[in-house]
Amino acid sequence: MKVLVPVKRVVDYNVKVRVKSDGTGVETANVKMSMNPFDEISIEEAIRLREAGIATEVIAVSCGVAACQETLRTALAIGADRAILVETDVELQPLAVAKLLKAVVDKEGPKLAIVGKQAIDDDCNQTGQMLAALLGWPQGTFANKITVEGEKLRVAREVDGGLETVILNLPAVITSDLRLNEPRYVTLPNIMKAKKKPLEIIKPDALGVDVTPRLVTLKVVEPPKRKGGLKVPDVQTLVMKLRTEAKVIE
Ligand code: AMP
Repeated sequence: MKVLVPVKRVVDYNVKVRVKSDGTGVETANVKMSMNPFDEISIEEAIRLREAGIATEVIAVSCGVAACQETLRTALAIGADRAILVETDVELQPLAVAKLLKAVVDKEGPKLAIVGKQAIDDDCNQTGQMLAALLGWPQGTFANKITVEGEKLRVAREVDGGLETVILNLPAVITSDLRLNEPRYVTLPNIMKAKKKPLEIIKPDALGVDVTPRLVTLKVVEPPKRKGGLKVPDVQTLVMKLRTEAKVIE
């Protein structure tokens, strides 16, 4: 079975994000960009399925600007077999990405799509669920462990109270959570090998998808700075301050 893994290029998780001075978005010029960490976990999981003889091919897909090719090369260096870039300069929102991914699924025919649970830039946590809905496939979100059992997939999901296990019919979409696995390090020989692996570039038009944004960003602002704390000498003063200054009790 083929496995499709979407990978998003995001601001590196070590970078302190800065808002652009005109408030139109987040500064990305001269900022280190990397693969969304949850997508690294997804690639690792797909490769483990291939190593176990369950997956036949791992295809990494990224949607976005030409520089996403770097992210795809990383996916290939981790071990993906080939890559597809759906290239556009339009700012993509989760619904547009889900539509593009659906079109790639229709073209490639994978039996499993392993999406990240959320992108660390927009924190939307929407794309995997939307893709499952558009495809009409079952979904196992926040996966902590997956096991392929014939035509079924057993998924242990991270939920508030612990783990919930669901069994899905394949084809299916899963979204990977932090504890699904620990991705391997990329080695230099694999980086070299990745340069020769196939990377196809297609445009949204060729997939018949309209990626026009449906949401308008009005303004992006820094969170307010936290004010310093205050020490009070006793409980009476605390209660008095809560009543008169914070006004949270009567
Ligand atoms: P989000 O719904 O934006 O939090 O993203 C969740 C997941 O959807 C990511 O971890 C990726 O696996 C996938 N995804 C989102 N945007 C893109 C993109 N532009 N290209 C490829 N995959 C994406």
